[in-house]
Amino acid sequence: MIPITTVRFGPEEEALVLEVLRSGQLAQGAYVERFEREFADLHGVSHAVAVNNGTTALVVAMEALGIGPGDEVITSPFTFVATLNAILEAGATARFADIGEDFNISTEGIEPLVTERTKAIMPVHLYGYMADMQPIMDVATRHGLRVVEDAAQAVAAEYHGRRAGSYDVGSFSLYATKNLNTGEGGVVTTNDDAVADRLRLLRNQGMRQRYQYEVAGHNYRLTNLAAAVGLPQLGRIEEVSDIRRRNAAALRDGLADIDGLVLPSEPAEGRTHVYHQFTVRVTGDAAISRDGAIDELTRRGIGCGIYYPKVVFDYDCYRDHPGVVAADVPNAFRAASEVISLPVHPYLTDADLDEIVRTVREVFSA
Ligand SMILES: *Cc1c(COP(=O)(O)O)cnc(C)c1O
Repeated sequence: MIPITTVRFGPEEEALVLEVLRSGQLAQGAYVERFEREFADLHGVSHAVAVNNGTTALVVAMEALGIGPGDEVITSPFTFVATLNAILEAGATARFADIGEDFNISTEGIEPLVTERTKAIMPVHLYGYMADMQPIMDVATRHGLRVVEDAAQAVAAEYHGRRAGSYDVGSFSLYATKNLNTGEGGVVTTNDDAVADRLRLLRNQGMRQRYQYEVAGHNYRLTNLAAAVGLPQLGRIEEVSDIRRRNAAALRDGLADIDGLVLPSEPAEGRTHVYHQFTVRVTGDAAISRDGAIDELTRRGIGCGIYYPKVVFDYDCYRDHPGVVAADVPNAFRAASEVISLPVHPYLTDADLDEIVRTVREVFSA
């Protein structure tokens, strides 16, 4: 069985976790600060604020920007549910612009959705590939909007020399399956000093000095233990992204020219993909259906997944939700019915890659 993700930690993580244990300081402290400094440097921003997960990172990012009830946020309909849940938890209303060929929000779809209630655009850098940020920032500037990047899957991804999370406010996840993993965890990045200050307050009960409360806050803190797991990975993340890109290139070569199998589009000029997922589409021209292919690949020992099987608002619990404005998003519906993600993780061997290619070719031959 070749799993869709493999997680391994080494002696560096073990040593640092042990150091934290022996220090007795398990909660937020010096290791979190070190992690924040290095995470900020990696993404070329002045502030990184670590929090307890990627969903609270999105929530607190919006709260720090003053986004709440009555405000609208424009996002992608083809994303993990946390993107939507965070908008709802902030008390705002979600609107959706359809996606393009690269699975990310299509820029032309955003501007027609802007109303006097719109406060922010929330592009999602799906599968580790950054949305087309320049036109998104142009729309934001024209309408005085904030931009919150959902960069949960895009640690260290690049767009014309700028890193994910470096545009206005960025939100990352350190969840167990993400490219940088502390089990649970999240990070908010920004160059805005005032926003960073507010993020730090909100994360820690609204407290600047002990028992000096300035706002009604939360406990969204990350632990030193989690930071100790993350710190060594920060040092390796470029290497890991390179390996993911190399694996993606091997899959791309091996899987070319299969009827009905559409490979992920080549990264546009100036953008670096970090391949959180390598996602293909199965069209009607294929010898097997998408769901049939999933069953066959699984049976033959190739781990695969559907990210995501439905458009994010297409569930009963959102049908009559006052914070969800359903939209006509045919590309997102089509993607949900066509996608399969294949293993691309950094522990694949050449033999694994050959095996994936051979098996996919077999499954898609009539
Ligand atoms: C993982 C993820 C999140 C949420 O992160 P958690 O750490 O699981 O809370 C948000 N958005 C996207 C696109 C994600 O993939």
